[in-house]
Amino acid sequence: MEDHINEARMQKPAATQERNRPMPQGQERLTLVAGGAGFIGSHLCAELLARGEHVVCLDNLQTARPSNLRKLEEHPNFEFIEADIVNPLPREILYRTGRFDRIYNLACAASPPQYQADPEHTMLTCVVGTDNLLRLAEASGARFLLTSTSEVYGDPEVHPQREDYRGWVSCTGPRACYDEGKRAAEAMAFDFARMKRADVRVARIFNTYGPHMHPDDGRVVSNLICQALSGRDVTIYGDGSQTRSFCYVSDMVDGLIRLMESEIDGLEPINLGNPEERTVIELLDSVLATLGRTANVTHLPLPVDDPRRRRPDISRARALLDWQPRMPLAEGLIHTCQWFAEEICGDAQGGLG
Ligand code: UDP
Repeated sequence: MEDHINEARMQKPAATQERNRPMPQGQERLTLVAGGAGFIGSHLCAELLARGEHVVCLDNLQTARPSNLRKLEEHPNFEFIEADIVNPLPREILYRTGRFDRIYNLACAASPPQYQADPEHTMLTCVVGTDNLLRLAEASGARFLLTSTSEVYGDPEVHPQREDYRGWVSCTGPRACYDEGKRAAEAMAFDFARMKRADVRVARIFNTYGPHMHPDDGRVVSNLICQALSGRDVTIYGDGSQTRSFCYVSDMVDGLIRLMESEIDGLEPINLGNPEERTVIELLDSVLATLGRTANVTHLPLPVDDPRRRRPDISRARALLDWQPRMPLAEGLIHTCQWFAEEICGDAQGGLG
């Protein structure tokens, strides 16, 4: 019965017909990165290519920026496939069933305005999309890494958040499509692991920033930088005393790869994030100091269910992966502001005052 379902979902007949196609030349490891055109995914693809892996990037381009892939597309070991993981996986993927060594799932809109724009699709991406990729991992004998999120802790009553904290999440609010979707995706991934159907890793990603963020994704770092660069008022939701902990993207990519390559027991999630906590107002001050600018502040209402505090406890990542973030916020903001200035203003000097 299970095999029957697998065959139907994986379209295995097509896959087996095409299974014997030659491997791309000169590659040892075949890695699928779902969501590889997105902010973190595009940096992950670049790093995996640099490490000699053959990377197949699957993305529906819903929230990604194709320009994130500009440099990667010239690489002989890089392939891009436009497809949505909610749908049956495309032939270009299925014919290599059995050949993938690693599958990273980063495919999902991740900023609140974007994941709330089509909440049904967000939930399906988390659940059906993750199921499609887990089945591919199972059929391939590939190791699978799910990028989950600090949102599984909801508006946390425990601070900082350790992995064994079960969270305070609303299943009826506007963030539920993402929070509960990722919780369901985790549940499914751990069931695959428990049943020995796939070798699974789960990362809980906390707020991450850096080049390749979408200027319109509505997140606090991109909003503040873009608003300040273009001379508009900066928007602070509520009084700005809520906190987040911001991790630079290169640190995050390092953590994801370490987790994927670790031999840890795959039945435990791992927090990845920067434990340095800032209020949103402190972040604004740092952004303005980096840009050498001032700005008028417009206060807008705090979004429904907006977490008041968020900071990861990364003891587990430190102990098991020997990982911790290295990029200080001040330096990470310089790189990020320079990138945004070039993207938005075409300013090669990086628009820094
Ligand atoms: N935020 C803000 N101004 C903005 C965008 C966001 O003050 O222009 C706040 C938001 O309410 C939240 C924090 O910044 O408290 C981080 O928001 P973001 O959307 O970046 O991420 P998330 O809420 O998912 O952590």
